[in-house]
Amino acid sequence: MTTRKSDIDFDNTEYAFEYKNNFELKRAQFIFNLINFNWLVKAGTSIANKMMQSGLSFPVVVGMRPTIYAVFCGGDELEDTVEISNNFGKYGVNTVLDYGVEGKESEQDFKKTENEILKAIEFAKKNKNISIVCSKFTGLLKMEILEKLNENKELTISEESEYKTAIERIDRIAAAAAKNEISLFVDAEESWIQKPLDDLTFSLMEKYNKKQPIIYNTIQLYNKSRLSFFKNAVEMAKEKGFIYGAKIVRGAYMEKEAKRAKQKGYENPIQKSKKDTDADYNEAIKFGIAHINDVAVCIATHNEESCLIATQLLQEKGIKKNHPHIHFSQLMGMSDNLTFNLAKNGFVASKYMPYGPVKDVIPYLIRRAQENTSVSGQMGRELALISKEIKRRKLL
Ligand SMILES: Cc1cc2nc3c(=O)[nH]c(=O)nc-3n(C[C@H](O)[C@H](O)[C@H](O)COP(=O)(O)OP(=O)(O)OC[C@H]3O[C@@H](n4cnc5c(N)ncnc54)[C@H](O)[C@@H]3O)c2cc1C
Repeated sequence: MTTRKSDIDFDNTEYAFEYKNNFELKRAQFIFNLINFNWLVKAGTSIANKMMQSGLSFPVVVGMRPTIYAVFCGGDELEDTVEISNNFGKYGVNTVLDYGVEGKESEQDFKKTENEILKAIEFAKKNKNISIVCSKFTGLLKMEILEKLNENKELTISEESEYKTAIERIDRIAAAAAKNEISLFVDAEESWIQKPLDDLTFSLMEKYNKKQPIIYNTIQLYNKSRLSFFKNAVEMAKEKGFIYGAKIVRGAYMEKEAKRAKQKGYENPIQKSKKDTDADYNEAIKFGIAHINDVAVCIATHNEESCLIATQLLQEKGIKKNHPHIHFSQLMGMSDNLTFNLAKNGFVASKYMPYGPVKDVIPYLIRRAQENTSVSGQMGRELALISKEIKRRKLL
C-alpha cells in the first residue's frame, strides 16, 4: 500500500499542540516571535555571552528560565523532566534524555557527566516514557585528545592515561545502557573529532548491539563524505554480526566548519548546497529502510519532506510503523506538528529533551535561537502553526 501525502496531515495543529495548555501555547508564540528577529537574537546572544563571561550569570538565568529555557528544556534536574515526559507519553511520544551541559574540560566535570548519564539511564529504566539517553562524548573526554586522535597524532603519556580513563568511563555508560536496555545516542559534533567517535561507537556497537540496537552513532549528512561512510559502516557491522545504530541528522555546525576549513586552508567538508545535503539525507533514509534488518535508524529532523519520504517508504515496503529499527525524533520546543502527528498515526516518535542548570545549557539555547533565525522559512512555519492553533482555540 502506498501512503498518499494526505495520510499524515502535518498541518493538523490540534494534534500537534494537544499536549500544550493555553498558557504554554501563548508563551511559545511569544518566544518564536522574538527569535524571529535576527538582530534581536544577534544582540541578545552577544550580550548574554559577555555577561556570562564576566560572571554576571544571574540576570541571564532569570531572564531565560521562564522564557526560552521553558520552551526548549525539560528542567534543572532529572526529576523535573517527569511531568513533561509523562505528558508527552499521553500522546504516544517518547522522550530522549539529553544532559545538556557542554564545554567542560576537567576530570572532575567528566566524572560528573558520567554520573549524570548513569543516573539518566537508571531513571529511564523506571520511566516507561523514556527509552533513550543521549550523550556528547566531549562531555566525557578532552576535545584536544579527540583532535589529536583524529589526525593520527601520538598522545603524550599523560594523555594516553586520560584517554584510557575516558574509554573505561564510556564503557561503563554503554554497559549500563545495555544492561537496562536503554539506547544510548552519541551526538555528532565537529568533523575534526569525528573519526575517534566513529571508531569508539563502532567498537561499542560490536560489544553491545548484537541482539538489539543499544549504541547509536550520529551521521551528519551535510558532510560530503558521510553517506558513503554510513553505507560502509552498515556493511561492516553486518559482516561482524551486529546491528548498526544510526541517528541521521543534517548537521548543526555548518558555519564553524566553513570557517575552520578556510582558516586552515583545506576543502570545506560541507556539501555545496542545501539541495545536496537534502539529497544525501533522503538517500540515507532510503538506504536505512532498505537495510532495516541490519541497521536501526533514528530520523532526527525537522524537515517535513524527509519525514514524508520515510513514512511513504515504510508503507510501500510493508514495514510495520512501529518497527523497532526505525523512529523519528525532533527537539523539544520544535516541530511538534511532526512529532505528535507521526505518533498519532502510529509511528515511533520522540522528543529530544535537554535538561540541566540554566547557566550550563545556555550554549545549547543560543544554538537553538541562532539556528532558528538562520534557517530560512523554519521559524516562519513554527510560528504560523502556533498562531493557527491559537486561532483555532479562539485565544486571540
Ligand atoms: C533529534 C535531533 C537530534 C540532533 N542531533 C544532532 C547531533 O548530534 N549533531 C548535529 O550536528 N546536529 C544534530 N541535530 C541538528 C541537525 O543537525 C540540524 O541542524 C537541524 O535538525 C536542522 O536540520 P533539519 O534536518 O531539521 O532541517 P532543514 O531545515 O531542512 O535543514 C537545515 C539544515 O540543512 C543544512 N544546510 C542548510 N543550508 C545549507 C547549505 N547552503 N549547504 C549545505 N547544507 C545546508 C544544515 O545542516 C542545516 O542545519 C539534531 C536534530 C534533531 C532534530
